[in-house]
Amino acid sequence: MDNRKAGLDPENWDELRALGHRMLDDAFDYLEHARERPVWQKMPAELRAELTRPLPRGSESADLAYEDFLRLVLPYATGNTHPRFMGWVHGGGTAVGMLAEMLAGALNANLGGRDHAPIEVERQVIRWAAEMLGLPPESSGLLVTGTSIANLIGLLVARTATLGAASRRQGMGAARLTAYTSAAAHQCITQAMDISGLGSEQLRVVPCDEAGRMDIAALSDAIAADRAAGWRPFLVVGTAGTVDIGAVDDLAELSALCRHEGAWFHVDGAFGAMLALSEKLRPQLAGIEDADSVAFDFHKWAQVPYDAGCILVRDAVRHRAAFAQSAAYLRRDSRGLAGGHPWPCDFGPDLSRGFRALKVWLTLKVFGADRLGQVVEASCALAAGLARRIAAEPDLELLAPVALNIVCFRYAGAAADSGWDLDALNAAIVADLQEAGIAAPSTTIVGGKLAIRAALVNHRTDESDVAALVEQVLRIGHARSMAAA
Ligand SMILES: *Cc1c(COP(=O)(O)O)cnc(C)c1O
Repeated sequence: MDNRKAGLDPENWDELRALGHRMLDDAFDYLEHARERPVWQKMPAELRAELTRPLPRGSESADLAYEDFLRLVLPYATGNTHPRFMGWVHGGGTAVGMLAEMLAGALNANLGGRDHAPIEVERQVIRWAAEMLGLPPESSGLLVTGTSIANLIGLLVARTATLGAASRRQGMGAARLTAYTSAAAHQCITQAMDISGLGSEQLRVVPCDEAGRMDIAALSDAIAADRAAGWRPFLVVGTAGTVDIGAVDDLAELSALCRHEGAWFHVDGAFGAMLALSEKLRPQLAGIEDADSVAFDFHKWAQVPYDAGCILVRDAVRHRAAFAQSAAYLRRDSRGLAGGHPWPCDFGPDLSRGFRALKVWLTLKVFGADRLGQVVEASCALAAGLARRIAAEPDLELLAPVALNIVCFRYAGAAADSGWDLDALNAAIVADLQEAGIAAPSTTIVGGKLAIRAALVNHRTDESDVAALVEQVLRIGHARSMAAA
């Protein structure tokens, strides 16, 4: 084989460079004009079918492949870059983050281990995260895909810390471990119990108070009852920012209770941990600084492009004890590229790891914690404004208190005798809004009622978007209930 052809670098760098510049311009246009597109459009079936073609055996030009991207992918993305995307809890991304992704791609660094600058960047990001949340500077941590995995890692560290390192070889035997979280916790906590082999039934689901926060007296009772029955309570997972309504558990109380009970205190702060960026809002997190571990996302409220989750563990020794391995082919050295021990692969299940840290690092450097904190404050102010608009509209009903940036409400203008089921009507309103590309809230169930749920996370969202949401919900609600009458 011709040697020159064996490699994958372009034969003509100038051509690929020109294409690359075009791609970059298109990508900037995409972000600069985010507002001018529909929020979302469903990918047409005939285009979807093109993505079922078999594995290409031959090559095609990068120009042609890029045309396919522009035609098949770009118009039909999730839509979370758009200011009127308000569904689930999605970050909006930034142009700076986009550039970081490109630079990271150029380096193609593997952050599993070894001695190089990209790992130092991740270590700095972890120290910044610890500083932000008030954990000690020597805390350990990792950037991972998201909070789901970060919660799983936290749980595994807690398990090994409780059972001792021998449990990694011997398994859990007859250990009867129980964990505790609130009824408003994210499903991934249940899943972490399941994946870890502890069993999802051993997660005790503690009821919430009116504000959606874990009922601490009920938690204390549940722990006492389990102890009396021979269980070993080992972990309490508090939530900073519940997924449905954005409630923050009383972390200081939880922390005190965990200390008293000798249980590991983990906080799921997926988006709520970012309250720490705002001087005004951070008091809501009081107690998080005493957590044994915290999981959160940079890809939600901190606007870092997907994916960028983070696990922080107060005690680096215990963190390592849960994951470190020794394999001859991963031998550490005091010299050369095999230095820099301990390696990130000692702190989690991944060996090869990409350079996620660069987009977090650049985001934090370029915008700074204060500016990102202003984004968090702005989202909360928009949510409060939306709640006021809802209160002023007789046909709308607020379904949950607005603690942070999440507003749950519904259209309730249809007369009780009109035969409209309000759950079905509101689900239809949300689907109409999404399919028309007008706005993308999501739905949830609050107090047995289907709610339109607007999570204000995107830094591009402003008052006009919130006003449009209210106006359009009313318009569709009226039209649909009239049509049925
Ligand atoms: C989003 C979220 C998660 C899951 O995080 P991913 O990054 O999607 O894995 C967990 N807990 C809460 C409270 C969340 O809001």
